[in-house]
Amino acid sequence: MTDPARILLVEDELILADGIAENLELEGYAVEHVPDGREGLTRMAAREHDLVLLDVMLPFMDGFSVCREARAQGVDTPVLFLTAKGGAADRIEGLQAGADDYLPKPFHLDELLLRVAAILRRRLWVEAEKEKGRTIRFGGNAFDVRGMTATSWDGRRHELTLKEAMILQTLADREGEVVSREDILDTVWGYEVFPSSRTVDNFIVRLRKRFEPTPESPRHFHTVRGVGYRFEAGAPETAP
Ligand code: CA
Repeated sequence: MTDPARILLVEDELILADGIAENLELEGYAVEHVPDGREGLTRMAAREHDLVLLDVMLPFMDGFSVCREARAQGVDTPVLFLTAKGGAADRIEGLQAGADDYLPKPFHLDELLLRVAAILRRRLWVEAEKEKGRTIRFGGNAFDVRGMTATSWDGRRHELTLKEAMILQTLADREGEVVSREDILDTVWGYEVFPSSRTVDNFIVRLRKRFEPTPESPRHFHTVRGVGYRFEAGAPETAP
């Protein structure tokens, strides 16, 4: 990435926004700030950014709705939620809305910068994978890495988030092996301030919902109790 990464900051607390923007610009990023959810969605839908920093409590439209709506429009720009709501339910809602990460307020700017760098590095990883242009097939599901899209066994189309794609790819690359949660965190998050390993579990739940005919008794994304996960592609499906 030779051009500076472009970051959209959606935040209604102007003093906080100024502080964040200033620090990101010092790191060499180009920052665009908008102060409300409606404008945030408009700017996000323009797909001109490499990353969106999204507050949750916003005028006109909350951050969860912004993210959900943008994902529904097929916008796959990574989203990092800046949330004053630190409870587990809110974190899960954020991830379900299609976020890639979340950072509870108040946070240290250093941690924000670490996470921003990690997300942008993931973005580069995916760009490199797209160059290879492969398709991962398992049990009637097909994930096209170039398009970051998948078709599941039941014919539904899916737009995967970066982390979903990376977790799927990490597991598929080591098919049949037990991959620990720590390995997944290290590969996919890749920074020192690890989120809880429960975070990985939340993403596996999402992948199962997308790709497993019966998510509660998975055929592809197996839990290895106390350790992590094992991916099995299984035999190719034949249509009934
Ligand atoms: Ca706010």
